[in-house]
Amino acid sequence: MTSPNTQQSAVPVLVVGAGPVGLCLAIDLALRGVPTTVVDRSDGSIVFPTAESINARTMEHFRRFGLAEKLRDEGFPPDYPRVVRFVTRVFGSELVSFARPSNRLQPIESESFSPEGMLWCPRFWFEPMLRDRAVELGVSIRWNTECTGFEEDNDRVVATLHSTVDDTTETLEATYLVGCDGASSTIRRAIDVDYEGSFAEGANLSVLIDCAAILEDNPHGAATQIYPVCGSQRIILSAMDGMARWRVTVPLAADESPDLDAVLADNLGREVPYQILDSRSWTGHSVVAEKYRHGRAFLAGDSAHLNWPQGGHGMNTGIGDAATLSWMLAAMVQGWGGPSLLDAYETERRPVAQWTVAISQHNVGTQQRLPLPTDLT
Ligand SMILES: Cc1cc2nc3c(=O)[nH]c(=O)nc-3n(C[C@H](O)[C@H](O)[C@H](O)COP(=O)(O)OP(=O)(O)OC[C@H]3O[C@@H](n4cnc5c(N)ncnc54)[C@H](O)[C@@H]3O)c2cc1C
Repeated sequence: MTSPNTQQSAVPVLVVGAGPVGLCLAIDLALRGVPTTVVDRSDGSIVFPTAESINARTMEHFRRFGLAEKLRDEGFPPDYPRVVRFVTRVFGSELVSFARPSNRLQPIESESFSPEGMLWCPRFWFEPMLRDRAVELGVSIRWNTECTGFEEDNDRVVATLHSTVDDTTETLEATYLVGCDGASSTIRRAIDVDYEGSFAEGANLSVLIDCAAILEDNPHGAATQIYPVCGSQRIILSAMDGMARWRVTVPLAADESPDLDAVLADNLGREVPYQILDSRSWTGHSVVAEKYRHGRAFLAGDSAHLNWPQGGHGMNTGIGDAATLSWMLAAMVQGWGGPSLLDAYETERRPVAQWTVAISQHNVGTQQRLPLPTDLT
């Protein structure tokens, strides 16, 4: 590694992490006239789809960002029904289904309380739209740039940035720094903040597959999520492109390596041809950071809270963090915020995360352990 190059360029807000939360924070700040730099250690490839369930409040933020129409019309197929279906097996009997309108029709359903409603839009679509909007608003996004730590004094933070491409290091001075750097947050560790709560509640494997039969041979029609309940494991199938692509999430016993052929045949009702495109193992946690702020450094998104995906709260809660923090930081940068304003960020957002973590924990318990009649096959 080369020695640090002490080139210093002042920026009002440095955002670490260009995931959905960091990008939303940068867009919101840009719309309020606050320039930001976003650094991300990855090369920008969107490798595995999570966070497709976008809630109504997030859609209201996307509406402010000028993105709601685009997401509705140019993302996941706009006329695909957003049905959630519980079945014995995919090709077996339907137990119950929750019929929800397609992305295109969604605003009609929710118009009594909001001009926006929930959307189903896998990350392959919405994240590039967030990036494009951020760049259009003048946000500087620097890929292949890892923040390895920072120092702080009364007036500023000085972050150390390492290029993962050419192995060089530089420093960047900012008035505020926000760690939107996910579950393994460098910023959370740098400010010596732990998560509190219940760790490692369950191991899971999510597999991205192409399997045309799930829709083509389905006796019940299309759905965005299918929950077969009679298999030996309660898997979840989530529609990724409205055609053949699905994410299959399998709960695992400790150190288990599942036989996916057998798991799919068991939960679908018979063997079908399919192709594995990618897979990720992940662990369910129910935890919230003990603090959201240390001086000029803040946490937002998964760096501040981790929950089970059941209910679709993780990213949505993080985007709520970004929406709150953006106006508070803008108030401070522009000189109209009082000295204790920034403390309100944690006061406002931490209880929301505690609630979403608890409700997600409840949801997974219900999905995994709801007792079934013994004669249901
Ligand atoms: C199977 C599954 C399904 C899910 N479905 C939903 C859903 O439907 N709805 C929902 O709301 N949530 C869902 N979630 C949760 C959601 O994926 C996360 O809550 C969300 O991705 C968090 O966004 P983030 O921007 O905080 O962090 P991340 O998406 O983890 O992004 C963090 C970014 O920071 C970068 N980074 C990390 N460290 C550094 C560093 N030191 N320097 C520079 N860059 C760094 C990373 O490269 C990454 O790009 C799901 C999760 C799973 C596992």
